[in-house]
Amino acid sequence: MAAMTRLCRYLIFCEKIIECALRISGPLYIIIATTIIGAVVYVYFTAILPLRCAPWSASFVGHASFGISLVFNILFNYFHCIFTDPGTPPDVMDPENPKHVTLAQHCRRWCKKCRKPKPTFCHHCQVCNRCVLRMDHHCPWMANCVGHRNYRYFFLFLFWLWLGCLYSTFMSRVPLRGFKSRTRASVVFTFIISIAIFLAISFLMFWHVYLVCTGQTTIEFYNNQRDRMAEKRKGKVWKNEYNLGWRQNWQEVFDERGPYWWITWALPRRVPHTNEGLFYPTTDTLDKLRVSEGKEDFALTPQTSTEQTAVSSAKDIV
Ligand SMILES: [Zn+2]
Ligand SMILES: [Zn+2]
Repeated sequence: MAAMTRLCRYLIFCEKIIECALRISGPLYIIIATTIIGAVVYVYFTAILPLRCAPWSASFVGHASFGISLVFNILFNYFHCIFTDPGTPPDVMDPENPKHVTLAQHCRRWCKKCRKPKPTFCHHCQVCNRCVLRMDHHCPWMANCVGHRNYRYFFLFLFWLWLGCLYSTFMSRVPLRGFKSRTRASVVFTFIISIAIFLAISFLMFWHVYLVCTGQTTIEFYNNQRDRMAEKRKGKVWKNEYNLGWRQNWQEVFDERGPYWWITWALPRRVPHTNEGLFYPTTDTLDKLRVSEGKEDFALTPQTSTEQTAVSSAKDIV
């Protein structure tokens, strides 16, 4: 028993050390990432592009434009993910806000550390030491939590970096005979670093494509697996009520609902989330969502009869 207690204390101590190290080393990861991206971009424009295309030919201009757009998209999403607050539950409940009223009345999960209700998908981050809305994970490369408001930037950073590495690998596979040793070294460096990052993030990118398409976060995936197994033991089939179908899930996560959402989701732009991140539509309310689309913001109003009742009866209480 005493040995078990000692082991638990040791594990908690190790966890605290790792959390502290992640908190302190955040800026270091950002410097490393921007240095690597900067070095690859520099070699691409000063060595690889002149080697592959005649200066100012049509192909030179085309490749240069594509390279610039890739770099812009990567950096735009990277820095937006770092500097965008993922969102946290409100400190003070606004009695005029139906969502706050519903949350105060019906939220069953409570964070003891933050002393706040925990909405659906909300989890407490030990590194940031606060509750994060729709928390996916704490990312050391972003020195930030990836959650409700910055998941879009995280995913797009992954997507454009993956595409950029694929392109950079393709472009840096030039024949190296006859080049100066310095140029050769920098091109080989770019090829190795590009293919290494491409292979490393390929799994991560497709993993997040799967999560978005199935209406899950990384944390919820494991919780859902647990629920699925529990229902299976009872002889029942578990269904994720937040899985609205891949198209609707995609539109919810990227907050893109116009006729050209299939293009605009990938564009480098700041999207003010219409959903506060306290409630999310479920398969039960999907029909209402379709009816209200274009007329009313579904995500900001209570949908179920329980929520409606709570709002009408609880404004004085909150
Ligand atoms: Zn908390
Ligand atoms: Zn965090």
